[in-house]
Formats: sequence, C-alpha cells, structure tokens
Amino acid sequence: MLEIPSLAILRYRTPEELISNFTQLWGVEPTAVSLPATEFDGPLFGVDGLRGIKFSTYASVSNVLNGFEDVVQEFASRGMGIVLTICPNLSFIPGEGLSVRDILGDASPQLCVANPRSVEVIAAILGTGVDIVREVCAQQPGKLQGIAIDATDLWPMGGSLGRVEATCFCAFCTQHFDRVAPDLLLRFKTFPNPWSLLLKPSNTGIGFVDEVGPLTSPEEIVGLSRQRGYVEQFQNAAESYLLENANLLLRYMRARHEQTVGAIAAIFDQACHELDDLPRRILIIEGERYGWTTGIWAEELDLAYPAGDRTFDEVWLNANPNFILTRVPYRVYMWRRSRYVISSFFDLAASATDPTRRAISQIALRPPGQIRKILYQRFYQMLAYGLNSEGALLSLPGGLRRGGASGEGDSTRLGFVGVSLDREFGERFINQLNIAPGQVDILGDQEAEAHQSQAGALSNIDPHIMQLLLHQFQAREG
Ligand SMILES: [Zn+2]
Repeated sequence: MLEIPSLAILRYRTPEELISNFTQLWGVEPTAVSLPATEFDGPLFGVDGLRGIKFSTYASVSNVLNGFEDVVQEFASRGMGIVLTICPNLSFIPGEGLSVRDILGDASPQLCVANPRSVEVIAAILGTGVDIVREVCAQQPGKLQGIAIDATDLWPMGGSLGRVEATCFCAFCTQHFDRVAPDLLLRFKTFPNPWSLLLKPSNTGIGFVDEVGPLTSPEEIVGLSRQRGYVEQFQNAAESYLLENANLLLRYMRARHEQTVGAIAAIFDQACHELDDLPRRILIIEGERYGWTTGIWAEELDLAYPAGDRTFDEVWLNANPNFILTRVPYRVYMWRRSRYVISSFFDLAASATDPTRRAISQIALRPPGQIRKILYQRFYQMLAYGLNSEGALLSLPGGLRRGGASGEGDSTRLGFVGVSLDREFGERFINQLNIAPGQVDILGDQEAEAHQSQAGALSNIDPHIMQLLLHQFQAREG
C-alpha cells in the first residue's frame, strides 16, 4: 500500500516517480494507494453543508492533476486500488461548537469525535469522497478498496509539572461519562488526578506508560507507576488511595475506549450509508497497548474481533515487538508512531499558512523565517521516524514472503503501508509554503522577541512534545 498523506506530495513527485520509488525501497510494487479525503488546511472537494469553507491549497495539485478526481483517475488507470483516509481533526471547521475541550473548558481547534455533529461532518466528507471515487471508477467496479480513519490523535493532551491535562471535557463527552460512569469524570477534573499514575508532564513533554491492557489489574498499574516514579505526583502515596485511583483510571480507559470505537463506527456507518458493496473499514492507530491520544486499547480490538456486527475490517499500526495483533487483519504502517508525527507535521504547516490559526497558536509570535526553520526541524525529526527499506520488513511477522504480506498461518498481517515522504519533498514543500503574516508584524520585532523568550525555545523539541505544547497553547489562547 502506497500511502500519500497529503496531495502536496504530488506537486513535487509524479505518480510514476512515487510508484518506482516505492518499488526500489521495498522490493515490491504497490497494488493500492491511500489518498487523503481532506488536508489540514481545508477540504479537497465540495461537500454539501460545508459551502463557504475555503478549499485546501492542494485541491488543485498541478496543471495535469486539476483536482481530487484527476488524482483518483491517475492512480486507478494504473491498475491501483484506492483507499481514502481521513484525519478527523478538521481544524478548518469554523466555530468552537464541535471542538475538543480541555480540563478548563477551553476549546482547541480540532473536532471532538464524540460530538454527533462532528461525526456527521466527518462522515459527510468521507461519504462524498466515496461517491467521487465510485463515479470516477464507474467502469472499474471495486477500485475503492477501503476507507480509513486516522485515529492517532483524537484526544490531545497537555499539562505542566504535577498537572496532567488530557481531553476531552466537552458537553458530549461529559454526557457520555455521566451515563456510563456517573461522577467518574469529576475525579479527573482535579490535580493530581488518576491520569497521573501513568502520565507525567515535565518541562520537555509528557512521559507516559502505554503497557496497560484491558486485563491489567489496579495493582499492576500502581506497580508500573511506582517503577517509573510517577507516584511522586501524589502527595498521598498510601497504597489504598493509589489503588482507588488505578481503579478509576481503568474505568475511564474502558469508557473512553467504548466511546471512541462507537464514534468511529458511527462515522463509517454514515459514510457508507446506502452502499451495497462496502469498502473495507480501516482504523489507523499507534502500535501501543493503550494509545493515550487514540483512546483505544489495541488488545481490546483484538479480543472483540470478530464481533457480530463489527465496526471495522482492518487496522493499520506501526510494528511493536511487545505487542502483536492475533485476530484482527492488519497492515504494518512503516513509520514509528504510525501516522501521528506525520499528521502533526502537516497540521503545523497548515497552522503556519492560515492567518486565524496562526494567530491563536504559539508560532503567532515568530517571524516567517523562524517558522520555516521550525518546520524544517520538525520535518527532519519526522523523517527520522520513517522505516523506509526492504530491510525493515524483515522483522515483521511473516517477513518478506508474499510481497511483504504475511505467509505464516498464525499471523493476520495483510501487508504493509509504505509512506511516500522524502527529504527533497520536504525542502521544496517548506520553501514554497506561503506563511501567513503573524503578530510579529504588528507588535514589532522587539516586543515579539520578549514574548518569545517567555514562551521558551521550541526548536529542539520532539514532534510529539511539540504537538502537546501546541495543543496546550492553542487551548490557552483560544
Ligand atoms: Zn468531547
């Protein structure tokens, strides 16, 4: 599977180049391509109900590829299957009504998937994309192989020393928790809260333990917390008090898991409404036992599969030697942290080019030259997470057999997802980004510099941490 996370890539690389590059790197030819249904700066095609929202800068790719339809046509005519991906953040939707809210009730620009209106919007975009692909490929039925939801950053986190600020506390999340576990969310609205057992913010980001499955006991959680020294965040370190917190944390994780899986199921259902030949429904998550920003227990997906009316058919996740799916069919996403760092890079690039989003983010106070530098650093850090070689396939279950798909009877691996991102693309993309004028132009250099030094240096930070900071800052300033 050739993954194209942004159509921006097609500005600098032709489909032939991408396919031949993939074949060189991995030793097999891709049989399908995954294309985004939206970009972080706007939709790629018109959607009923979203009139007035500016199209993405990449909606018109080049003179040859004049729109999303052309891109689909281009790959379909090469015999490739099509998978449509969507990242539900959709920060370009105006207003705060659908937003994720933090512990203080402040909104971040991304949508909360628990909100039924968000589900409608995400499904409308995905459903329109499905219709377009089917129309373009009307003569070649079955070209649309799948639709995929990037669930790697549904629940952003922030925080500072001693304060874990995870999300979401919007009206719909609050209602959900009130229904399934009355008063549970209240225990997370204070500091320290049960999250502090497994999450620890520091000056450089948030440390986390993900080695927790649905069958982990409260005693094991307290043990892990002691081992990492996270218990120091609690003034009361009595075993009974910590166990009570571990219990609350497990109940929270279960409620959040069910809510997230339910929201994703609703998006797939609405997007595929009235279709008789369903495309495969794909979930993109990180290869962790519990994904804090995904809200999903990967093991629970495996345990629950195949359920009678299952909500998805396939999972994409990065390889984790400590955790392998045994029932759910999956593809290995050849990038550390799966799509998380990739999505967060393109999200940051969109913040830099959109005057409104730039104004409410931390980069508001930086001159365009500096933003470009931050983007370069972020891009190179992101590239370092890539696993772009045939050699990297060797360690996967099933190894290289069957063109990268698993040949072993006991593995459900279907193949792998290779991402088309390289250094040359990054340099040309960032060079040509039209960075919006920011507050520095209004405040003047000196004043902006004073603000900047307060904000601290952003340049040498891991993208994960940068994302956390960004969310945190957007929430504060929003
Ligand atoms: Zn919410």
